[in-house]
Amino acid sequence: MLNIDLHCHSNMSDGVLSPAEVVARAAANGVHALALTDHDDVAGIVAAQAVAETAGLRLIPGVEISVSWGGQTVHIIGLRIDPQHPELAAGLHGIRRGRVERARRMGDDLAQSGIAGAYAGACGYAANKQLVGRTHFARWLVAQGHVPDMRTAFRRFLTRGNPGYVEHQWTTLENAVGWIHASGGTAVIAHPGRYAFNARELHLLLDAFRALGGEGIEVISGSHHPTEYGKFADLARAFSLKASRGTDFHAPGEGADIGRLPALPHYCQPVWQGWPELATHFSSSLA
Ligand code: AMP
Ligand code: MN
Ligand code: MN
Ligand code: MN
Repeated sequence: MLNIDLHCHSNMSDGVLSPAEVVARAAANGVHALALTDHDDVAGIVAAQAVAETAGLRLIPGVEISVSWGGQTVHIIGLRIDPQHPELAAGLHGIRRGRVERARRMGDDLAQSGIAGAYAGACGYAANKQLVGRTHFARWLVAQGHVPDMRTAFRRFLTRGNPGYVEHQWTTLENAVGWIHASGGTAVIAHPGRYAFNARELHLLLDAFRALGGEGIEVISGSHHPTEYGKFADLARAFSLKASRGTDFHAPGEGADIGRLPALPHYCQPVWQGWPELATHFSSSLA
């Protein structure tokens, strides 16, 4: 089987490894094609691309865009994007500006709950100063001994109703899909199992995404429990969406390791089917 992992993070967003280290780890784990999909930034793609060939894998330029939809945050993955495309670059730049402002407000909110210095502390965990997010706050909260682990950091802080959570308006679904398409990419709904939507709301999201020309949905995800794979494979088929597979790797020892997940169910249409760069790279027929 070809090992294709279309969702992971470097320290250009909230992962801990550099883009080159992510590629090396993917290669060591037997990944044939990897999409680097940092949150709201494409800053790691050049470095990842530069080492991919010697590492023996195919690097797919990607991004994970933060969107507000239906009162929740939804993540849309762009695959095979052109990181230089001006419309995409400008859109992502706008999101990053909002992120810095949000992070300051998160720090203020934590300070009101008696936890001082969180914004500066979180920035200390962010290699990319434009890309400070909740994961950096969580790493700092763990390191400071406020919580024993990341899971508890997100249970006690940083989530709706808890200190350190601030409401934030990300971009629209229409913008995210539009920028991805403008740059030549394919749009995929990330980890659909993570959203606090009921079945009807999830169907509305899939309808809206389809109406905008969105192409795919993650079926096999590090954020999904194995018992959910079938459900999302069925939804992909019902909504005529292609299926993607991605670990959402962030750090060694945190969640699924790169490339280490089951294959797509056989009845799914893989989102990578027909991608010419994979055909030439492997010069074999692709499932
Ligand atoms: P942000 O984009 O700044 O809101 O941060 C979202 C990121 O936080 C996600 O991409 C995950 O990496 C991380 N995250 C969210 N919820 C959890 C959780 N319950 N446990 C661990 N990490 C989480
Ligand atoms: Mn993340
Ligand atoms: Mn995500
Ligand atoms: Mn992700």
